[in-house]
Amino acid sequence: MKTQAFAGNARQVITLGRNLFEPNPMQAGSEHSIAGGLGTRGPRGVADIVADRAGTAALHRRGEAIVGHEMMHLLHQAIDPEGFWRSKFDSKQAQAARHLPAAFELSHYSSGNELEYVAEALTHELYLGQLPQRADAALRTILREA
Ligand SMILES: [Zn+2]
Repeated sequence: MKTQAFAGNARQVITLGRNLFEPNPMQAGSEHSIAGGLGTRGPRGVADIVADRAGTAALHRRGEAIVGHEMMHLLHQAIDPEGFWRSKFDSKQAQAARHLPAAFELSHYSSGNELEYVAEALTHELYLGQLPQRADAALRTILREA
C-alpha cells in the first residue's frame, strides 16, 4: 500500500496492493519486544493488531484499517503540511530522535520513518482508541501540538 503526495499539487494517489486481505501472523512471543509483535511477512502494523482482535472478521477489518492508515497520510498532510514535508525530507537520524522510542509502544511498522509513525498513531486512535502515553507525546511533538 502506498500514498503518494506531490509538493505543490493537490492530487494524491493511494495504491492498494493485493496483500490488503492477506494476514501477517505474529511471530510467537514477539509481542513482548514491540507492540503487535513481529510479523512472519514483514513488519506488522496497527492494521494487524486490529485484525488480531477482530475474530472471524479479521481479514476485512485488516483491509479496512490499511485503507484507514493510507487516509491518515492524507490527513497528516492536510493538518500539518509544513511538518509533513519536513518529515518526508528530514534525515533519518532527525526523524528517529522524534519517533523511535515511542514506536515500540505502537507497532513495528511505525518504526520505519516519521510519516509511517504519524499514520500508524492516527490509525491507532481511530481503530484502537487512546494511544499509550509515550506514543501520544511523540505524536504531539511531531505534529507540534505539545
Ligand atoms: Zn503508510
